[in-house]
Amino acid sequence: MKSIEDIAAELEGYDPQALNTGTANRFLSRLVTPVTEQESVDIFQALGRVMACDVISPISVPAHDNSAMDGYAFAGAQLASDRPLVLKVIGTVLAGQAWSGKVKNGECVKIMTGAMLPPQLDTVVPQELVTVRPPHDRPISARAETITIAPGLLQTGDNRRLLGEDLQRGKTALQQGELLTPAALGLIASLGIEKVPVLRRLRVAYFSTGDEILSLGEAPREGAVYDSNRYSVFGLLTRLGCEVIDLGVVPDEPTRLQAAFTSAAQQADAIITSGGVSVGAADYTKAMMQQLGEVVFWKIAMRPGRPMAVGRIGTSVLFGLPGNPVAVMVTFLAFVRPALLQMMGRRTCAQPLLKAHSVEAIRKKPGRTEYQRASVSTAPDGSLQVKITGNQGSGVLSSMVLANGLIVLQHQQGNVAAGDEVDVMMFEGVI
Ligand code: AMP
Ligand code: MG
Repeated sequence: MKSIEDIAAELEGYDPQALNTGTANRFLSRLVTPVTEQESVDIFQALGRVMACDVISPISVPAHDNSAMDGYAFAGAQLASDRPLVLKVIGTVLAGQAWSGKVKNGECVKIMTGAMLPPQLDTVVPQELVTVRPPHDRPISARAETITIAPGLLQTGDNRRLLGEDLQRGKTALQQGELLTPAALGLIASLGIEKVPVLRRLRVAYFSTGDEILSLGEAPREGAVYDSNRYSVFGLLTRLGCEVIDLGVVPDEPTRLQAAFTSAAQQADAIITSGGVSVGAADYTKAMMQQLGEVVFWKIAMRPGRPMAVGRIGTSVLFGLPGNPVAVMVTFLAFVRPALLQMMGRRTCAQPLLKAHSVEAIRKKPGRTEYQRASVSTAPDGSLQVKITGNQGSGVLSSMVLANGLIVLQHQQGNVAAGDEVDVMMFEGVI
């Protein structure tokens, strides 16, 4: 395990008193390590979990060549560019059935989507593209059906799904570290696998600090505010698929803080606190972090946010977030989330940013990264547009609630004019 000093020494331009967001993320990616313990879970329990190892395909999917359309299967070598092809329909293959007879040249079989192609047949003409004789309104017994395919419509191999075109037996179907999305569940099921090897869930303990912070259920008192951070952090962690350990509100008393940090470090892979890390903080939180662990206090060139403590208490990674409710969420999204994804064993931890046109001008000073709560929508011309959702004070949660993402104004960026493209970090993936 690398010490904080080792990590600091590796990073060019590392200055804890004026840290840019990129360096903060690089620091954290060196501080954390992925969990390794695995468990086997039923596929219905696997959604949102992370693959513990590669899945090697035990079968090929599809397991046989089959039809991609409802139509007629035949040997494509008979197609000619200068004349229509007339074929006699000698039977029907439904999905799930095998055709055992032979289909000679001049013949075809009616075939349904997904049905196995009879041996030697390699081409399917969709039923909409043929002329059937006699017409369908005649009684079945009176029919000796033929189809006619006009020239130039098809090539050999059209509308055929090849054996193994999705997954090939013996090849990697899903990689270690992959998130089990709805699509991944379906893919695993398509291989006939019921039990999925996943990494264990990450355990994250969190508590709020501050004498002025009221727990829900307590009577309001002058100068006090209800704890909102714990609930936002709970939501953020739950969405990530972490096991959460809620340690409540901890008042600014050394013994209570010590007990909370110690309990958190014993149970959790990561500890998230809010409050008590700002410069003027007249409380014991910082002192206790320093006493119990290996912790560094950052001033990050960002808004909202800025103060943050990171390090380790025992083997748990500590994220000491600022107190202001929006600063908590922004520092979580910017730094804690990617670090936790890495700890969860995820292959990809960086969130792609979208580009959208800012509806309005935004004032911005170069030299810090700014995150603005905003709503992304589709403009009348079909492009993405983004609009700030209101008061950007770091304690104002109502503008966060209205937002579906954050405009990320990069470190060196200056003022934005109306219509300029800006980077946007969306809050949610779609699936
Ligand atoms: P601090 O970082 O402790 O100086 O707190 C900064 C601001 O955030 C203060 O106005 C605190 O009252 C507020 N704050 C701190 N913790 C919480 C919390 N858990 N819920 C709501 N507001 C908080
Ligand atoms: Mg405080």
